[in-house]
Amino acid sequence: MKTYKIAVLKGDGIGPEIVDEAIKVLDAVAEKEGINFEFNEYLIGGSAVDVFDNPCPDETIKGCLNSDAILFGSIGGPKWDKLPKEKRPESGLLKLRKSLGLFANIRPAIIFDELVNASTLKPEVIKGVDLTVVRELTGGIYFGEPRYKDDNKAYNTMIYTREEIEKIAHVAFKEASKRNKKVTSVDKANVLEVSELWREVVEEVAKNYPDVELEHMYVDNAAMQLIRDPKQFDVILTGNIFGDILSDEASMIVGSIGLLPSASIGGKVGLFEPIHGSAPDIAGQGIANPIATILSASMMLDYLDEKKAADRIKKSIKKVLADGYRTKDLSSFDAKEIVTTSEMGSLIAENASN
Ligand code: NAD
Repeated sequence: MKTYKIAVLKGDGIGPEIVDEAIKVLDAVAEKEGINFEFNEYLIGGSAVDVFDNPCPDETIKGCLNSDAILFGSIGGPKWDKLPKEKRPESGLLKLRKSLGLFANIRPAIIFDELVNASTLKPEVIKGVDLTVVRELTGGIYFGEPRYKDDNKAYNTMIYTREEIEKIAHVAFKEASKRNKKVTSVDKANVLEVSELWREVVEEVAKNYPDVELEHMYVDNAAMQLIRDPKQFDVILTGNIFGDILSDEASMIVGSIGLLPSASIGGKVGLFEPIHGSAPDIAGQGIANPIATILSASMMLDYLDEKKAADRIKKSIKKVLADGYRTKDLSSFDAKEIVTTSEMGSLIAENASN
């Protein structure tokens, strides 16, 4: 029986509640698919500050590097907001991503037919949307030097090297090869030199993937097209800042932040986490939606090449939603019964083991 070592970083706020449900579902699926998980917990974020005075202790990084994948909850909260920047939970997550070389962020926006009414867009616009944003995560304007600010002038620098663009483009084309075989590369090549290079390198990389169609789109147009007709997209490939904005826009097509998973990959070990934060306003009340984290666990199984187990989780979520079970955040959308975080996890686990 294959055993996977999973580093579990529950974090703060609702983190522990939602990760516990994902583990429940993973255990149910493991039994069914003949695989085994060894879960090892490490501290991150505010909970690590409380114990080690450090939001990302070396022990956590070492534990992650020693694992096959990382399941992450969420970090942060008002308790730690006043600390100096390097001690804040958010710095812990940035340090972890950087230390592990996680340069590619993958955020699928999957619509469940059962929840089309939860979106602010018209059902006919979003029904059938299945797109993924592949965002470069460790370069571009957020990290470029020089950066500067005084009272009268400030600037940042948007830098991409050929190597950085090649790496993220390969991730996007590989992703598209497994999906609907189309990459939309988003840039601002009509204005920015950095985007001109981006476009040239993406075209070169595309030659390795003859089955995948490539189109280019300016970022302003992409922002508009995402709302006008999101079904035209399969994989959106883009840099750090454009990806930051477009992936949040894409997530709103789905309706609730509690539904969206993500994967950060590229280094030795992939990290899987919901896109939302630690939701301190609802922590400890048993009302958080665990589906984003459970879907992240499904992405983790895909990454570990356990496709059947990954699909089993997605099918189970669909069934539970079709049966009308909703957590509080989705209570006004075709709900037959409102359930707690833990009940939602149990329902998905139960269905996944049928
Ligand atoms: P948030 O995503 O935590 O919450 C925004 C809103 O969405 C809140 O009303 C919250 O109750 C709701 N929400 C979030 N997840 C939900 C879920 N699973 N089910 C139901 N409702 C849910 O964003 P915020 O309030 O801006 O930030 C809170 C803390 O989280 C901050 O400290 C922030 O820095 C941190 N944060 C962490 C991450 C991360 O861990 N990757 C990401 C974003 C924000």
